Amino acid sequence: MSTAVVVGSGPNGLAAAIRLAAKGVQVTVLEAADEVGGGTRSTEAIVPGLLHDHCSAIHPMAVGSQFLNGFNLQRYGLSWRWPEIDCVHPLDDGSAGVLYRSVEQTAAGLGRDGSRWRLAFGYPASRFDALSDDIMGPLLRVPHHPLMLARFGAPTVLPASTFARAFRTEKARALFGGIAAHSFRPLHYPMTSAIGMGIITAGHRHGWAVAAGGSQSIANAMVALLSDLGGKIETGVRVQNTSQLPPADVTMFDLAPSAVAGILGDRLPRRIAAAFTRFRRGPGAFKVDFAVEGGVPWTNPDAHRAGTVHLAGSYAELAAAERDIHAGRMPERPFVLIGQQYLADPQRSVGNTHPVWTYAHVPNGYAGDATEAIIAQIERFAPGFSERIVGQTVRTTTQMATFNANYAGGDIMTGSKDIRQLTFGPRITLSPYSIGIPGMYICSAATPPGPGAHGMCGANAANLALDYLAAK
Ligand SMILES: Cc1cc2nc3c(=O)[nH]c(=O)nc-3n(C[C@H](O)[C@H](O)[C@H](O)COP(=O)(O)OP(=O)(O)OC[C@H]3O[C@@H](n4cnc5c(N)ncnc54)[C@H](O)[C@@H]3O)c2cc1C
Repeated sequence: MSTAVVVGSGPNGLAAAIRLAAKGVQVTVLEAADEVGGGTRSTEAIVPGLLHDHCSAIHPMAVGSQFLNGFNLQRYGLSWRWPEIDCVHPLDDGSAGVLYRSVEQTAAGLGRDGSRWRLAFGYPASRFDALSDDIMGPLLRVPHHPLMLARFGAPTVLPASTFARAFRTEKARALFGGIAAHSFRPLHYPMTSAIGMGIITAGHRHGWAVAAGGSQSIANAMVALLSDLGGKIETGVRVQNTSQLPPADVTMFDLAPSAVAGILGDRLPRRIAAAFTRFRRGPGAFKVDFAVEGGVPWTNPDAHRAGTVHLAGSYAELAAAERDIHAGRMPERPFVLIGQQYLADPQRSVGNTHPVWTYAHVPNGYAGDATEAIIAQIERFAPGFSERIVGQTVRTTTQMATFNANYAGGDIMTGSKDIRQLTFGPRITLSPYSIGIPGMYICSAATPPGPGAHGMCGANAANLALDYLAAK
């Protein structure tokens, strides 16, 4: 029987482990933390019973993931819930750009920009499942659906600022900009439309779902499946050098490239070690979870029904804040993302106290405290918020990296999504999961298709590992 070791139990590590175990490989997962799940963990840190997601919260890519859906994780307790409204981007005048799962409903709310929204997202959303064959893996390969991919892909090379200029209303510009800003890149840089277009398109097809019982349920379901397949997990094992790696036919690293280089040292071919050491980090996230009595008193009525609320004000203000963090400056008013998962999954609340998940985009390694800036942004669109806070926990950029070494400097994307790293992954190659040592692969969100709890990086890397085992 072939054997495999997987280092790291994030969704990609677990996905790699499951794919290998499902083909009869004897798999052992080694995880540094005391709990499994990496970026898909939940906690009751503030009030017993009040459930907060540590990291991933909203899952337009995971809910439609071919990998996750292929294993029917519902059998293992994973079930998705959808808020009434996917995302709201409020403006200072009390109005808002509102994203619904339905393209038509979204377009209807965007007035003069409705037809443009429909034109941009209607076609790719209706074909998203076929498109995922091409966009949920390495971008540089022969596409399954070349014409469809060309039609979807052409606008993704644009800077988000150019794409946003096609809209005439502030609502549509800000709504698109806030979603494009998930790339953590200055919005006037080329290809900054790509991540936003992917999230919007996936969301119009599958919705911005949350996992019932917290994102930990995604990890728990994967762990239960892996266990049924005979896989084993050891927690509290931080792999730092090759002597800690048990002998195995294949080894999968659900880690940042620099960590892989650190563990393998001289065993890594020099050119690959150099690329992994040069791998660029993106800006950081500063996270605050709140326990809020009665929920957030939003001025905009739709924000009361939205799973996600993006706080930045106008498109211009958002673009300036994203430019600042990229340049290492903390903006006075950072881009703040709010998660109200409890609206779709009420079991996360305790009575009338609700868990509100927030983080601000900040410079990588930001050493200050962004809590007040986050509260001020919420107060701006929800006056009276502060009086409703009954508890909070903070995770600084440094604590983010202690929580999970993949998030160095608070970089929750596992690397900057600049053109090179978004297109190729950790190094310029047609085989982004290979690390130049037969039987060893990198499978974290540093590789295509990138961040998210979809598991596709791990599944794609495991496919290569299975080819290697078959040819051995
Ligand atoms: C605050 C925040 C908000 C987010 N929001 C969303 C969201 O709403 N939707 C979404 O889809 N995604 C979101 N993400 C991103 C998502 O969580 C990640 O992209 C995803 O978890 C990446 O999965 P992964 O398997 O590549 O790695 P990770 O989930 O990062 O897991 C890596 C694992 O490896 C372990 N590890 C690290 N070093 C070692 C070592 N040396 N030895 C052993 N184990 C090691 C870590 O402890 C960790 O468990 C968010 C992330 C954060 C932090």
